[in-house]
Amino acid sequence: MKSIATIYIDGQFVTPHGREPLVLLDPATERETTTVILADAVDAQRAIAAAKAAYPAVSRTTRERRMAWLQRLHDAAAAAERDLVDVIVAEYGGTMAMATGTARRAAASFGIARRLLAEYPFEREVGGARVTMVPHGVVGMITPWNASIGFIASKLAMAIAAGSTSVIKPSELSAAQTELITRVMHGAGLPPGLFNIVTGRGDVVGAEITRHPDIAKISFTGSTAVGKAIARGAVDTMKRVTLELGGKSPTVLLDDADFAKAMPLAAQAAVMNSGQACIAGSRLLVPRHRVGEAHELAVRAFRDLVVGPTRDPRVNVGPMVTRTQYERVQAYIRKGIEEGATLLTGGPGRPDGLERGYFVRPTVFGDVRNDMTIAREEIFGPVLSIIPYRDDDDAIGIANDTPYGLHAYVFGADLARANRVAAEIQAGRVFVNGLYDAPEAPFGGFKQSGLGREFGVFGLDTYLEPKAIMGHD
Ligand code: NAD
Repeated sequence: MKSIATIYIDGQFVTPHGREPLVLLDPATERETTTVILADAVDAQRAIAAAKAAYPAVSRTTRERRMAWLQRLHDAAAAAERDLVDVIVAEYGGTMAMATGTARRAAASFGIARRLLAEYPFEREVGGARVTMVPHGVVGMITPWNASIGFIASKLAMAIAAGSTSVIKPSELSAAQTELITRVMHGAGLPPGLFNIVTGRGDVVGAEITRHPDIAKISFTGSTAVGKAIARGAVDTMKRVTLELGGKSPTVLLDDADFAKAMPLAAQAAVMNSGQACIAGSRLLVPRHRVGEAHELAVRAFRDLVVGPTRDPRVNVGPMVTRTQYERVQAYIRKGIEEGATLLTGGPGRPDGLERGYFVRPTVFGDVRNDMTIAREEIFGPVLSIIPYRDDDDAIGIANDTPYGLHAYVFGADLARANRVAAEIQAGRVFVNGLYDAPEAPFGGFKQSGLGREFGVFGLDTYLEPKAIMGHD
C-alpha cells in the first residue's frame, strides 16, 4: 500500500504536523491503496506564512519572469501526461478519456495563462486615473476530488499570471494525484513559497484557509453547501471569493432537433465522468409529442454504455468515487421510483457481473416532473431524468426552475431558434448543438452554482483588482 506522509511548504516536501491517517480505497475494487497523513490547521498556518513571505518578491517580478515560470510548469506537466493519466484512473476510477483530457488541460492551463499574461493590460488610463491591475496577495485554493489536477493547475496558473502566491488545499480524496502533480511542479524549479500544497480535511485545513487574515482571496471549486460555508467564513476578513459550485444542468431537445444525432451527445453530457461532473446534463427536456422517441433513444444510448474498471479504454462509466457516493446515488434512484417517475432502464443495485466496486447501473427515468427530488438535487451519478415540456417557453421555464445555473445544452435544427432558447436559459455556459472544449471561455455559474468566473481572461481578471492613482501627471 502506498503511503503519503508529506506536504509541500516553501519549496520543500515536509512532514505534516497533522497526524491523522486516512485510508483511501480503489473505488473499482474496494481494496486499500493509499494511506495519507492529513495536514492540520498548524500546517495550513505554516503554508500561509510561506506564501505570505514569498509574496512581496513574487508580486514584483516582471511579466517575462512569470511567463517563464508558466512555461516551465507547462512543460513539466506535459512531459508527465502519461503518469498523470495513470494516477487519475487508479485513484478515483476516471475513464481513460476523462483522465487524458484532465491531464492535457492541466498542462494547457499553464500555456494559456502564459499567453494571456503576455497580452494582459495591467495598466491603462481610465477617467483621468492611471489604473493598475494589482494582485490580491496570498490566494487560498480549495479544490474537489473530480478533475483534481485540472483545477489545481487552472487556478494556480492564473494566480501566478496575476503575481500572487498560493496555498492549495486539494480534496483529501485525491491525495495521490496531488502528490504526483506536486512533484511534477516542484521539478519545474520555481521560487520557494510561490505555491504551497497541504492536503487535509475541509473542515480543518479548508476552514483555516477560509478564516485566516493573511489569505486575501479564495478560489473554491466544490459543492454548493461547502461554497456557502466558505462565503460565510470569508466575509469577516472580506476575502475576495470565487465559487465554482454544483449544477443540475438541463439539456433541451427542441422539437425540430434530430433526436438520433442529439441523443448520443445528450447521453454523453449526462454521464461525463461517470455522472460525477458539475456540468453533467442530468435533466433532459423533451417536447411532449416526441417523448416516446426520446425514451427509446435514451434507453438505447444508456444500454450501450460500458460500465466497469476504467483501465479498459472502452469503458465510459466507471465507479462512484466512494462508498458514500455510491450509496447516495442508490438512494436517489430509489427515491425516483418512490416519487413515481418511470424507470426506463437501470435501477437500484449493481450492474451485472460487477460484484465489487462502487459501480451503479446507468439509469434513465421518464415522466419526471421538475419538482421531483431527482430533478432538483445534484445526484452526481449516471442518472438521467427525462422531463416533458409543451413548447419553447415551457422548456425555458423548466430549464430555469432550479436553484442552479452552471451549464445548459440546447439541440435544434433552426439555429436562430436554438440560440434564442440558449439566450433565455440562466446558465454561465450554454452549448448549442454539440459538446465543446472551451478552455478560455468564461466558466462559472448563475444563481447557486457560484460566484465569479474562471478560465481565460475573465478568469485572470478575478485574480486582480483595479487600483486607481490620480494626479500622477
Ligand atoms: P466538496 O464540496 O465536498 O469538497 C470540495 C473541497 O472543499 C474539498 O477539498 C473539501 O475538503 C473542501 N471542504 C469541505 N468542507 C469544507 C469546509 N467546511 N471549509 C473549507 N473547505 C471545505 O465537493 P467534492 O465532493 O469534492 O466535489 C463534488 C462537488 O463539486 C459537486 O457538487 C460538484 O458539482 C462540484 N464541482 C463544481 C465544479 C465547478 O466548476 N462548478 C467543478 C467540479 C466539481
